[in-house]
Amino acid sequence: KILSKLKDPSLVTDRALIGGIWVGASDHGKTFEVTNPSTGDVIATLPDMNRAEAARAIDAAYLAQKQWAKRTGKERAAVLRKLHDLLVANADDLAAILTMEMGKPIAEAKGEILSGAAYVEWFGEEAKRVYGDTIPAHQQDKRLIVIKQPVGVVAAITPWNFPNAMLARKLAPAIAAGCAVVSKPAAETPLSALSLALLAERAGLPAGVLNVVTSQDASAIGKEFTENDKVRKLTFTGSTGVGKILMRQGADKVLKLGMELGGNAPFIVFDDADLDAAVEGAMVSKYRNNGQTCICANRLYVQSSVYDAFAEKLAAKVSAMKVGDGFEPGVNTGPLIAEKAMVKVEEHIADALDKGASVPVGGKRDALGGLFFQPTILTGVKSNMKIAREETFGPIAPLFRFDTEEEVIAMANNTEYGLGSYFYAKDLSRVFRVAEALEYGMVGINTGLITTEVAPFGGIKQSGQGREGSKYGLDDYVEIKYLCLSI
Ligand code: ADP
Repeated sequence: KILSKLKDPSLVTDRALIGGIWVGASDHGKTFEVTNPSTGDVIATLPDMNRAEAARAIDAAYLAQKQWAKRTGKERAAVLRKLHDLLVANADDLAAILTMEMGKPIAEAKGEILSGAAYVEWFGEEAKRVYGDTIPAHQQDKRLIVIKQPVGVVAAITPWNFPNAMLARKLAPAIAAGCAVVSKPAAETPLSALSLALLAERAGLPAGVLNVVTSQDASAIGKEFTENDKVRKLTFTGSTGVGKILMRQGADKVLKLGMELGGNAPFIVFDDADLDAAVEGAMVSKYRNNGQTCICANRLYVQSSVYDAFAEKLAAKVSAMKVGDGFEPGVNTGPLIAEKAMVKVEEHIADALDKGASVPVGGKRDALGGLFFQPTILTGVKSNMKIAREETFGPIAPLFRFDTEEEVIAMANNTEYGLGSYFYAKDLSRVFRVAEALEYGMVGINTGLITTEVAPFGGIKQSGQGREGSKYGLDDYVEIKYLCLSI
């Protein structure tokens, strides 16, 4: 069924990629199934690989990296350019594969493919500009030079919510810098990663520079990634809990880490905001990907004097959303990824209602059944409710009321997370005061969409370390070496 939707059915594979070889069965013969969350249909059966196979992929990457690093930046750039062009040319097919395994509406899936492609383009361009330094020496007979070299083999673990873009963001800077990658996509959504690898191969990326290990046993693969001496960096996007496990595991080797972890984004609407713009921003920031992004607005704080007006305008928009299979025309909200996610959403709503909140819109599983949940608004939300502290990862907009700027900044910062944040205001002094006071890696001001390959994406506090995208993004994949020459 998946193949009939594609112009190029060969973009779907049921094999993993190790050292340039497409491997159809795991060493121990185990497989796992990938299902479409909209229908429950099985769409592929993949090898369920173990540690030994992860180790083989690391060996292959280790060998390939030595050669890849010798290529000039311009040569590496040419491959990434070609990959970008192939991603764009095949965007419709890649989007269909993504919607099939992850559920997001097809238009959003295509947006993700183009966003992933943009990272590939950007880092391809940057590959030529990995500049070092010459430093005025401290002694007459010395010459001081700084060079940048690829870190080596990079292991990448990625989540299911952006199966293409989260991997593209990691492999592009790694490959640009001259590293080789061993990736493990989420077991829910491995097909997008595999089609990305297929296209990388077609773009001329040498065997072994990009490997994709498919497995349901994430913890076994994670152990190999953190304990194998040939791995020099681990880049991870996922939950803070798993990020901490990987950091602990990597500690013994002082493993270099890139961590894009959970968020709990505040979205603040001040009384001088353009309310219609704020509603638009809340819609994209909250409901994009069905609330399943790490920078989704999780707590909406609205100043008292505009609270009711904002809630009303938001309710009108949210009531008009169409839930359903991402392939159906007009659908702008797909299913949640799994039953576990449905339960968490229900739990957050029930807890809020128990403690006095109201549900003007949604609040229940959708009549379509399966993994479909109604886009929901909660009003009268208070800081003692679960939803105030935990990342919901679902289509609920909880509206908190506040009176003063000081109060809302304290509430917004009262979390262990520090990834995305948003606020709407017009007063220029307030804009700077609030932007500087928010303890977050990213602040959207009068906008709900902040992700772009040209800017640094990343968090502070327990939301992670390192940055993806922008001129800073390559720093995570190079080591600085200082040469002291006596003449
Ligand atoms: P989510 O809640 O979004 O699924 P996770 O952090 O559980 O977030 O998953 C993100 C990625 O981390 C996935 O690829 C998953 O398979 C992987 N993962 C989960 N547990 C572990 C672990 N113990 N070690 C390594 N990777 C893991």
